[in-house]
Amino acid sequence: MSGSQTNRQLFRNAQSLIPGGVNSPVRAFQAVGGDPYFVVRGEGAYVYDAEGHKYIDLVQSYGAVIAGHAHPQITEAIQEAAALGTSFGAPTPGEISLAEEIVNRVTGVEQVRLVNSGTEATMSAIRLARGYTGRNRIIKFSGCYHGHADALLAAGGSGVATLGLSGSAGVPPSAVADTIVVPYNSVPEITQEDACVIVEPVAANMGLIAPLEGFLPQLRAACDAAGTLLIFDEVITGFRLAAGGASEWFGVTPDLACFGKVIGGGLPIGAFGGSEEIMRSLAPTGPVYQAGTLSGNPLATAAGCAALQLLDSRAYQQIYTSTERLGRGLEKVLNDAGLPATVPRVGSLLGLFLGDKSPTHYDEARTTDEKAYARFFHEMLTRGVAMAPGAYEALFIGLAHTEDLVDTIIDAAAESAASI
Ligand SMILES: *Cc1c(COP(=O)(O)O)cnc(C)c1O
Repeated sequence: MSGSQTNRQLFRNAQSLIPGGVNSPVRAFQAVGGDPYFVVRGEGAYVYDAEGHKYIDLVQSYGAVIAGHAHPQITEAIQEAAALGTSFGAPTPGEISLAEEIVNRVTGVEQVRLVNSGTEATMSAIRLARGYTGRNRIIKFSGCYHGHADALLAAGGSGVATLGLSGSAGVPPSAVADTIVVPYNSVPEITQEDACVIVEPVAANMGLIAPLEGFLPQLRAACDAAGTLLIFDEVITGFRLAAGGASEWFGVTPDLACFGKVIGGGLPIGAFGGSEEIMRSLAPTGPVYQAGTLSGNPLATAAGCAALQLLDSRAYQQIYTSTERLGRGLEKVLNDAGLPATVPRVGSLLGLFLGDKSPTHYDEARTTDEKAYARFFHEMLTRGVAMAPGAYEALFIGLAHTEDLVDTIIDAAAESAASI
């Protein structure tokens, strides 16, 4: 039990029971040093740690909690669902409701399969693409993160980038033998050997990198020419960048789209979808096996529906406006304080790159000043602003980050940069 233990005591206990004290590596603060804060409660834009500190949260469960922590409507939906039973092993009406919310919003998605995480979504979408095309090879872009399935861990972003790994031990060469890794923002050669190309339409796991003009449409055309499926990994961009995700934002429709984070309202979920013609290759109607004991879980579908209902066009406008305000403010105060920085942004997404020039691919992203980030991170934390403990994660703001809070973050950034 936590009782009145300090973050340090909790972290020691956690380390004795859980490898590295965490259930996802980036949370361990290895890249920034020090002990992680243990969250005991969240409300709106704030999280509260075990020592009673209050932080404006720019992590927001890596984008999953776009409506803010413990949003009353989402909490109520979960409580109502929980009282009716938590998992059945039989279909539930809630699965139809969430599928409908997704299909209605996203162009090209006629059917959707619900899973339990973004990793499951991308992993299953790849299997489906291979099964549907009868081809083995897949193409991914370096610095794009698609979860932790074997075939997709090659040159991943997020924690893989933060820890400086090229991939992972335990992934046999055979598992990545059919994975081709190419640089982001240039269209690779695509042949009839390739089952699919998977891409983050806005790269949000190597800092934030926007697709260059023409990149996504040209990728679409090159895939079409080779009969290769285009998969958009919209686990971050889906329902965040716009109601219809990056495909709406950029006007490019993929063959398959993967979702996670926002669609669960903070509960574990993922989804992938596409045309009925492709999706019916999945079991039980087709030969591509895919399953899950807890898939379409009634708490997750209830939370997801409640979250999506909050995201009307006014909500998106609000987040676009605060993103722009925060981005401009940060860029100005950091550079004024002599800390060279760019704050790339696309709609409701923003990142922080400590360097002179916005990167356009992974090798450039890796020139970010990780040491400066670590110092800036701790200065911000001391001033009550919690960013992700790694230089390659995006900054997440949502409906709970009011204009006043955005200005508070900018003030904290000015002071933090000045003290470095
Ligand atoms: C977070 C993320 C994933 C993995 O989702 P999990 O729910 O952590 O398994 C996949 N793709 C992208 C783009 C992500 O940001």
